[in-house]
Amino acid sequence: MAKPVKYVFVTGGVLSGLGKGITAASIGNILKARGLKVNIQKLDPYLNVDAGTLNPSEHGECFVTRDGAETDLDLGHYERFLNIELTSSSSVMSGRVLRNLIDDERRGKFLGKTVQLVPHFTEAIIDTVKEAAKGFDVHIVEIGGTVGDYESPAFYEAIRELGSEVGPQNCLYVQVVYMPYLSTSKEIKTKPAQNAVRSLRSMGIIPDVLAARSEMPTNGHTKEKLSSFCGVDKEGIAILPNARTVYEVPLTLEEQGIGRYIMEKLNLKNKKPQLNDWKKMVDTIVADRKPKYKIGVVAKYLDNQDTYMSVFEALRAASWRFNADVEIIWVDAEKLAKTQSYVSVLDDLDGIVVPGGFGIRGVEGKVIAARYALKNNIPYLGLCLGMQVAVIAAARNAGLSEATSEELDPTAKDLVIYTMADQKGKENTGGTMRLGNYDCKLTKGSKSAKLYKKQLIVERHRHRYEANNQYIDQYTDWGIEATGKSPDGRLVEIIEATDHRFFVASQFHPEFTSRPNVPHPLFLGFIESLSTKK
Ligand code: GLN
Repeated sequence: MAKPVKYVFVTGGVLSGLGKGITAASIGNILKARGLKVNIQKLDPYLNVDAGTLNPSEHGECFVTRDGAETDLDLGHYERFLNIELTSSSSVMSGRVLRNLIDDERRGKFLGKTVQLVPHFTEAIIDTVKEAAKGFDVHIVEIGGTVGDYESPAFYEAIRELGSEVGPQNCLYVQVVYMPYLSTSKEIKTKPAQNAVRSLRSMGIIPDVLAARSEMPTNGHTKEKLSSFCGVDKEGIAILPNARTVYEVPLTLEEQGIGRYIMEKLNLKNKKPQLNDWKKMVDTIVADRKPKYKIGVVAKYLDNQDTYMSVFEALRAASWRFNADVEIIWVDAEKLAKTQSYVSVLDDLDGIVVPGGFGIRGVEGKVIAARYALKNNIPYLGLCLGMQVAVIAAARNAGLSEATSEELDPTAKDLVIYTMADQKGKENTGGTMRLGNYDCKLTKGSKSAKLYKKQLIVERHRHRYEANNQYIDQYTDWGIEATGKSPDGRLVEIIEATDHRFFVASQFHPEFTSRPNVPHPLFLGFIESLSTKK
């Protein structure tokens, strides 16, 4: 008989933004380090169908999987902590499950019965979880939001039912809670955590593991207190103070014996986890690294670090490889276009990154940054929209002053970036982009081919517009070259400036496949170029 899959359900209490995704990913990390085959999935109770239409400044980055799902940024953490590639089955939002359920109802699948949240919606959730778990030793399932949210009871009921179906030796519940610190009495308070556990219990779920976040060091009694008031074994409690880096969390869990505890609870033979390389990586990350490069990220969403999560992580990961450090400097794209004097912020930068983006706002400022980088021999890395503005910049620098993108001005004379043929008529609607993995062929001898050390690559995409082939013959005059193309030669995937320290831009998103311990070649090339002479 096939070995049963072991389920680990991760829920949250007290508040959101506690690092529940990081905790789930870290549990995955320490289980994978024991040689287990681990999958991980996020269930989001929001009524959205996917994350494609969510505002990145509110919700953070939209992470794209290799099969083209537009997902929650937690999937990025999962991929980075587990060094795996996930698929759409790892991101489940209520909207998608409900839509399928309603379609089934319309098709008459329920034979005249009333369709209910319990059992029909819960069964549909359970089915998606079981399906994703197939073929793995352990399947981790994180429920988005916190216990008590209006949208979520059916999700808790689903994991409760699944838990009782597979039995306690095959499933485990982890709750991530928060312990506030009161500065007046200099105390860490556990009451909100107790209440959150009580809410979870009221849904019939008793947590086996408690991951308690705190911003202050706790004393020796905190675990005891949590244990006796929350009814969780002391050995199943991990205190997670603010980490020096998120990548430290697996080690903190391991130090507190959580790996061993989970293995025992799940009736698995414990093994020593292989965490040496990860430890070394964390040592590098927390060490004082030099030089510190100033990297300007030209963007319109300046208020939320999460919006460009994978880009930042990829920049940092590449810097660790050179034992260097990066300081991210936000450059306000709109201000660049509006305020002439503000352009001087670019003078002070070691390198410029233009990340992906949609819509008109801020694009002219991004073109200004790309033109500046091109003219002044400043290393430039363009990601998706960052490639499109790089092409516009090169064209304008060469005198084609009206060069632009169809997204910006469909009536302009020189649309060097235009709508992809197969996207015509579908502009501005959700879910109609070129999404996910596509092959790309690199030009032999190009900077990109040297960095990748191969000529055929596969990268993740999320775009509607592309470089207009009618202008490709002019690229040489503009000082750039299309060094990466789709295998049929139709789509430009990478452009490079021919005579430049580093001016490389891709139509795809290399940041999604960068890992803290396996940095992406384009990011490595970019960071390496920062030390070269002007
Ligand atoms: N808005 C551009 C397009 O749709 C770029 C997209 C992106 O940067 N992800 O092609």
